[in-house]
Amino acid sequence: MAYVIGDECISCGACAAECPVEAISEGDGKYVIDADTCIECGACAGTCPVEAPQAE
Ligand code: SF4
Ligand code: SF4
Repeated sequence: MAYVIGDECISCGACAAECPVEAISEGDGKYVIDADTCIECGACAGTCPVEAPQAE
């Protein structure tokens, strides 16, 4: 279980700056979360302007 960034992502980078374990990186067309690193803190979801990160 981890957070996953949906296609709504506009690649603003705000979530990557907030992630305490640096699980988020810029991907092809959107940012992506490394599921093995994510600790499900929810900080990315709280920061995102378009609610792209969702708990899966
Ligand atoms: Fe990082 Fe927390 Fe988002 Fe997981 S839920 S990607 S640990 S900010
Ligand atoms: Fe994408 Fe939201 Fe992260 Fe910005 S904060 S890079 S829109 S997931």
